[in-house]
Amino acid sequence: MRDADHLRSILSRINGRGYKAYKDIRGIYRFRSYDLCVDHVQGDPYAAPSRIRVVLSQDRAGFPPEAYGNNSRRIALEDYLTRSFAGAVHRYVTGRRGSGKSGAVTIDTPHQEILERTSCFVNAETVEVRFRVGLPAAGRRILGHEAEEIFFREIPRVVDASLRYESLDETDLKRHLDVNEDQDVLRDQLSGKRFAAFIADGSVLPRRSGIDDRPLQRGQGNTVIPFASPDSLRITLHVPHAGSVSGMAIPEGITLIVGGGFHGKSTLLRAIERGVYNHVPGDGRELVVTRPDAVKIRSEDGRSVAGVDIRPFIDNLPYRSDTGAFTTENASGSTSQAANIVEALEVGCRLLLIDEDTSATNFMIRDERMQELVVKDREPITPFLDKVQLLHRDLGVSTILVMGGSGDYFDVADRVIMMDAYVPKDVTEKAAEIVARDGTSRREEGGERFGEVTSRIPQRHSFDPSRGRREVRIDAKGLKSIIFGTQDIDLSAVEQLVSASQTRAIGDIIHYYAIHHAGGEYPLREGLERVMMQIDRQGLDVLSDLKEGAYARPRLFEVAAAVNRMRSLRVRRMPDS
Ligand code: ADP
Ligand code: MG
Repeated sequence: MRDADHLRSILSRINGRGYKAYKDIRGIYRFRSYDLCVDHVQGDPYAAPSRIRVVLSQDRAGFPPEAYGNNSRRIALEDYLTRSFAGAVHRYVTGRRGSGKSGAVTIDTPHQEILERTSCFVNAETVEVRFRVGLPAAGRRILGHEAEEIFFREIPRVVDASLRYESLDETDLKRHLDVNEDQDVLRDQLSGKRFAAFIADGSVLPRRSGIDDRPLQRGQGNTVIPFASPDSLRITLHVPHAGSVSGMAIPEGITLIVGGGFHGKSTLLRAIERGVYNHVPGDGRELVVTRPDAVKIRSEDGRSVAGVDIRPFIDNLPYRSDTGAFTTENASGSTSQAANIVEALEVGCRLLLIDEDTSATNFMIRDERMQELVVKDREPITPFLDKVQLLHRDLGVSTILVMGGSGDYFDVADRVIMMDAYVPKDVTEKAAEIVARDGTSRREEGGERFGEVTSRIPQRHSFDPSRGRREVRIDAKGLKSIIFGTQDIDLSAVEQLVSASQTRAIGDIIHYYAIHHAGGEYPLREGLERVMMQIDRQGLDVLSDLKEGAYARPRLFEVAAAVNRMRSLRVRRMPDS
């Protein structure tokens, strides 16, 4: 390791020279209170900025062990320090100076969720932060003095203000860790109590807009109605920091959310979808938690499907009979929704979340009159309505369903919640009365059993990451798309993906999976579980040699969703055991 002065002298030596001379600053330098690592130097001022790390010893950083004593608190602390670093960059870094990305200092900044990330690591010895610096140049000529400003004035200030316990707001930090820990404890209680989800009283569910995930604020014509449980579904749970928390527990089984248009049905479901993640204090959903094995399902016409047994829902298609290993480049609304469900079940989903807004009608319902006109053996689709109870009985899979459009679901629901001007009411008994009074001559079409869920083994050659002369070309293109070799994986219908850094990780997880586990004897689920266990043990750094600072941890379900959307995917069926 070299002294910081060494970096200073290189910068003054290469000042004014061609950009390539920046390569000389690669290395580790000892600054007064931390080590600065220049891991990778960009090739020109327009390329992705250079990868830098700062490593402080805990002697300097001074975080008490309680702040990182368990996974929950450690992840929350790392998240907090990432945000704190970003805030200090905003205050102390001048930013753009010179051409291209010259002077920009950036860190992968989290949004409303608290996720495990690679932007920051805390343990008993050190605090490490990973970020990027656009090494400054005018045209292609090195601006050595400006680089010196960044490394010797700005970054030391940022580090001092954002990564030392002493300079942080103790109360605010503690709240961040406590709120995160409470969410984990709350979520952990769900399956033992046979709950699918829990929404605390007082939660704020609506968001500012479709592209702004912060809580809706009062004013400017907005009224915000905080969540209030119906008495019959209200329970009290206990968490370590907030103490007793009352709220609505949605039990396992089949829950229907009904109500008039614009009364808050989808907003409730959306909060439940996001309840698989923890949220920051002030988000409004800090005490909204959902089983971690919940998957949002929607229709997605146009997607590709590889060898999925969708016979539980769709059989006897005209001119093609192979729905036992359904393969298509261009699925319809109903076949895509069926495939989405079976694929989620294949990798361990135990709670389906479905909104009529994004479902194929002919997949969801088939009413009495239609049964009469189009007889069963001319209709390949068994509607979800006729399978939802079998799903629960045979596989223990619950469903929460937003359905304002068809009362046929009253027959199969264990519980009916009506959203009425954003206030939930338990209308289970009323729905049962209607069923008893009016009856129906609709015939059940679901058969005796739900049917088999496939286990597929993806073939290794499905995962070619090369493109042109590059052996590996994998990258996230925003939140909803991954470049994998020569293909684009379209994740626009994968609604529980919340961060582009998860998307980035998914691309590399698929590559890792393909190298280590594809093709062999393991089905998709087991192969992915192995990768996720590896990540549990060694962290997301197993995915890359670059000390990547911009990964966030995805769930196994979203990784599987990406694999399933690869147009190159080829599978073989698990041999029957
Ligand atoms: P639905 O699915 O029943 O048609 P939505 O959930 O889409 O209704 O909600 C309609 C509108 O009401 C949305 O703009 C949403 O942001 C707003 N909204 C939902 N819940 C609340 C609430 N508790 N307080 C204020 N506005 C809300
Ligand atoms: Mg809706």
